[in-house]
Amino acid sequence: MNYSDNFYGYQGQWAFIDLTSRKVNIVPADLEIYRNYIGGRGVQTQLIFEHLRKDAPLKDPLSPENRIIIGTGPMNDSPVPTAGRGSCSFIGTMTVSPQPVDWIKGHKPIFGLITHSSCGGYFPNMIKRAGFDHLIIDGKADAPVRILVKEGNVEIIEAEDELFEKVNGKKVVKSASVIIKYLTKKYPGSSTVCLGPAGWNKVSFACLTADFHRNFGRGGAGAVFGSKNLVAITVIGKKKINYHNSEKFKKLWTELDSSVKKHVEDPSWTAFFRPQTGTTWWLDRAFNGGYLGKKGGYLPWHNFDEGYFDPSQYSKVSTKAFLEIAGKHKVCSRCRHIMCSRTALVNHPVYGGKGVRPEFETIALWINCCLVDREAIFYLNRLCNEMGIDTMTFGSVVAGAMELTEKGYLKKFKNAPTFGKAEDMIKILYSIAYQSDDLGKILGTYSDKAISEIKANINGKVDEIVRCVTTAFGGLGYAGIEPKVFPGMFTAYGTSNRGRGDHTYAWTIQAEEGGLKEPGELAEYVISSQIGKALIDSLGLCDFFTEDITSDLFLSLYHSLTGIEYTKDSFLKCGQRIYNLERHINNLQGRDRNYDAFIPPKMTEPLKHGPHKGKRVEPAFYNSILDAYYEKQGWTKEGVVPKVLLKELKIIE
Ligand code: SF4
Repeated sequence: MNYSDNFYGYQGQWAFIDLTSRKVNIVPADLEIYRNYIGGRGVQTQLIFEHLRKDAPLKDPLSPENRIIIGTGPMNDSPVPTAGRGSCSFIGTMTVSPQPVDWIKGHKPIFGLITHSSCGGYFPNMIKRAGFDHLIIDGKADAPVRILVKEGNVEIIEAEDELFEKVNGKKVVKSASVIIKYLTKKYPGSSTVCLGPAGWNKVSFACLTADFHRNFGRGGAGAVFGSKNLVAITVIGKKKINYHNSEKFKKLWTELDSSVKKHVEDPSWTAFFRPQTGTTWWLDRAFNGGYLGKKGGYLPWHNFDEGYFDPSQYSKVSTKAFLEIAGKHKVCSRCRHIMCSRTALVNHPVYGGKGVRPEFETIALWINCCLVDREAIFYLNRLCNEMGIDTMTFGSVVAGAMELTEKGYLKKFKNAPTFGKAEDMIKILYSIAYQSDDLGKILGTYSDKAISEIKANINGKVDEIVRCVTTAFGGLGYAGIEPKVFPGMFTAYGTSNRGRGDHTYAWTIQAEEGGLKEPGELAEYVISSQIGKALIDSLGLCDFFTEDITSDLFLSLYHSLTGIEYTKDSFLKCGQRIYNLERHINNLQGRDRNYDAFIPPKMTEPLKHGPHKGKRVEPAFYNSILDAYYEKQGWTKEGVVPKVLLKELKIIE
């Protein structure tokens, strides 16, 4: 059956894949859900809510009941610049704190937050070419399987022995590039997403890897695949999308495309830097105020203790240092003009090779481990892709472990990592991915469990341990901007639906450097960014898309693609609906102000060096922003979405 003829922009087909019964049900998409939730992240949130609502909270994200969805948005595979980003949604494995803990006043359990991870490359567009908008995966297979999505059909196939090896006597999947190469050879022209050894071993921050180096990175999608005995999904097809009005689309697309080009050519826009530096221009901006910045001083150092350090050390890992190893563009499908990714070539006897230039966040969070070795960063980035580990959470977890080592709390572990030592990071990465020793097992699980296990090993002093663990109380791990410097960014970190530390749902740095500082203004800015980002993820576009998605031009283009008409207000309402539904799911999972207001203890200690010396998170000020944020969202003072708002947004009847 082909349902696509009734849809424009979308393929109009969903595949429900039940791994327990090994049955696949292909159904037409629901146009009303598309109208209300756009696509990608939004639609997937709705489909997870439908699945969860009767049984919430889902107490164990590693249980077969955790639905995981991979899908696309209406813009995907259209020629709109950056229309190659796909979505993966699930209940996260890192953002959990299910057991009572005595080191947080008034602690309430949380059981995992709704997580959306975005990935580029070819995989998302290939799902669409294979004839589907969303692959909705439930249950758990009784033996390792993989999924093949080919020309409108879906098959669940036993995973071949060739995809496994024995490591330390245990059966484990081979590294991600071996799995991808094997399946690409078997299905020429296909694209594959897979877990790595870390996902197989259910490490809480295991990611999925597509097309060798693109990732559904944050939140633990790899662990959810591992818990379902699901190794990989391969997609292949040639199906094009239908346009509601192709002539009009072509005309408007040409206009939009030249506007993107103009912005990329304008040195006063940050998009100007992207084709050369990718995201790494943020290194200079954060360290010394380069690239249209102010004074810098917010590149995290020594497990977020500082935002500034010795400039001669910084020069080894600066924007320029990473420009020197960059090669040709290697961009996502349908990317035009902005083109942030490049290959990289490193000459080094141990760490050398060909690959891709690491992203700002990865580099920044490893500088936070005091690692100022460009070649080692390149090598570790490649290794994380092979093992299927999220580079960002890995950076935060290891920085915490390094501080625990420095303070003498990890003496009994022979592989306890030390600040600045690349070889220690490599060793602990393997230990975590293969769960091959005690410390690897402790660090590979969510942080509150790790804290109690370390506590059990050292006789008390839990406060000192918690001080080192910035991912405590269900944190995802902060991004590469020192949290003490920007109260707005700290609010973005604290209120992001996918967990404490996420930077992608709202990014306030330019606005705060430009002078935004009142609690109400900061709250407003965070909310409108969160709504905008929910729309971008739902459309299937990239964070770096330069155009206003609420402009008449964009909304007319959208209409010519899908036949669906929005005004600026009704489109923004969709974004608000998506964000509020995510928050509602999180409320059901146990999240309220208690989680948002938690400030990791070291964040209240002032910076000792650099342009922002003396800055720290001020609890009273942060709480005043939170008050304003909840009020403007229309939530209760406790951060709960009230029923009346859920009804007004048509989330519930
Ligand atoms: S700007 Fe970068 S991340 Fe975004 S679509 Fe292009 S290559 Fe991909």
